Amino acid sequence: MSRSAHPAGPRHADVLPEGHYAAPPADLNALDAKVWAQTVTRDADGVLTVAGLRVTDLAEQYGTPAYILDEADFRSRARAWRTAFGTDADVFYAGKAFLSRAVVRWLHEEGLNLDVCSGGELATALSAGMPADRIAFHGNNKSTEEIRRAVEAGVGRIVLDSFQEIVRVAHIAQSLGKRQRVQIRITVGVEAHTHEFIATAHEDQKFGIPLAGGQAAEAVRRVLQLDGLELIGIHSHIGSQIFDMSGFEVAAHRVVGLLKDIRDEHGVELPEIDLGGGLGIAYTSDDDPREPHEIAKALSEIVTRECEAARLATPRISVEPGRAIVGPTAFTLYEVGTVKPLDGLRTYVSVDGGMSDNIRTALYDAEYSVALASRTSDAEPMLSRVVGKHCESGDIVVRDAFLPADLAPGDLIAVPATGAYCRSMASNYNHVLRPPVVAVKDGEARVIVRRETEEDLLRLDVG
Ligand SMILES: *Cc1c(COP(=O)(O)O)cnc(C)c1O
Repeated sequence: MSRSAHPAGPRHADVLPEGHYAAPPADLNALDAKVWAQTVTRDADGVLTVAGLRVTDLAEQYGTPAYILDEADFRSRARAWRTAFGTDADVFYAGKAFLSRAVVRWLHEEGLNLDVCSGGELATALSAGMPADRIAFHGNNKSTEEIRRAVEAGVGRIVLDSFQEIVRVAHIAQSLGKRQRVQIRITVGVEAHTHEFIATAHEDQKFGIPLAGGQAAEAVRRVLQLDGLELIGIHSHIGSQIFDMSGFEVAAHRVVGLLKDIRDEHGVELPEIDLGGGLGIAYTSDDDPREPHEIAKALSEIVTRECEAARLATPRISVEPGRAIVGPTAFTLYEVGTVKPLDGLRTYVSVDGGMSDNIRTALYDAEYSVALASRTSDAEPMLSRVVGKHCESGDIVVRDAFLPADLAPGDLIAVPATGAYCRSMASNYNHVLRPPVVAVKDGEARVIVRRETEEDLLRLDVG
């Protein structure tokens, strides 16, 4: 293979500019199993493979950029959550992480339930045959039309997010002659993110009804008075990309405190408690996520202990992992277009996608890893920044990573752990076409969301 030589980028031995990176890894060709989908490996030629398929062949057949999703990995993670929580708890996959009809079918087959937060997600779930009673409907401003469709379809629960919504849902349910099962989403003043959590956070956010000041208790009073509503539980979601279980501990303590107050005031013990999602995954080798069975054990111990102390029967627990199920199952495959070394700084590697297929780096300063995928290399590590093709200097996919110094246009690189919040947050910025999602399993690939075409773009533009 002939590769055009170009001046090598800065070496790790140089004084490095500020960044998120540590030292370059000992072996740039090695794949850390933590960040890659289960079936990813390299073949004898050094080409990255997934489900037995070479990425070079996938790129040729489906083009780049493309999200490549390991179906067996998705199913096994979904199953691991389902088994870990057993029959005394419910696992709702948070559809906003990534939803398509194939995903809905896999979830259905693996015995999971589904969270939706818009009419579009609800339509996707129903069209793929998810039974309505296994769907939970979330959102801080559901439209009356969305609520009506959800109640009509018979969704298993609507998670009430505001005082206005209590009345809206009750009214719609009554007008349809139904009694809708609901939970109330409360904010418990816990904010959890990655390795820290704050137990005394302000309830300064758009979601939920604050526990503080008696607002949640007042919401419960109102819901219990309305014939159209059946209150089945209390919901709390404390953050995202969480590794530290202590945030859940404080949240559960406060939710159970409310359940106890409800029992004391109304004489009812609510049967369910939903602790939300937010469990972290490994984006880089520095992240150490917990296994579903450890999370299940920790959560059920916390809730049982809190309920015993409050002399309440332990309610049924539900959890809502999104990222933790789909995040690790996919990687984005890109082709390198240009390589620009800046002496003493870093090398800019431009790929054929960018912030339109992964907004998380620009939006949250998220960290990702990257690997040369179409071959291996013995070249020295080169401090790199993987950037997209958009007209925006914040268009960064991987802020700081090491790639081999002989990287050249035409190479394929892969960014792992892009299964969650990448395709689902993808945009058409610069009229760039959104990439396909290709599901791979046992040596076979199939497109589950096709690549957008210029025709698709122009169809919306009615002149
Ligand atoms: C976003 C969200 C989730 C899923 O969060 P992950 O970080 O993907 O696990 C679960 N529940 C609610 C209410 C959410 O808003």
